[in-house]
Amino acid sequence: MTCPVCGFDRLPGLPENYLICPSCGTEFGYDDFAETEEELQERRMALTHRWLGNGARWFSRVILPPHDWNPYEQVVKVSFRLGGRKGIAGYPLLLRFTSEPK
Ligand SMILES: [Zn+2]
Repeated sequence: MTCPVCGFDRLPGLPENYLICPSCGTEFGYDDFAETEEELQERRMALTHRWLGNGARWFSRVILPPHDWNPYEQVVKVSFRLGGRKGIAGYPLLLRFTSEPK
């Protein structure tokens, strides 16, 4: 499963029932608690922004990050949440990953 907040693609289960993403630390069903699908998307977007704003650090002290872990590369998968190029402009590192040709 891919984390809908940070894009980590080795989530050990569905993003629900208080599962905690080892990458961004989001506790699903708590941190992203929402009444409607729209509110859920908004909350998760806010969590993505918060995580990036805090330096996109690995959260878990128990599970270690994959040795080639790159938070900016993985978050590109959910960067549509940030509102496209305009929304990610505040994150120069992320911008570099999404705009540089491979
Ligand atoms: Zn995550």
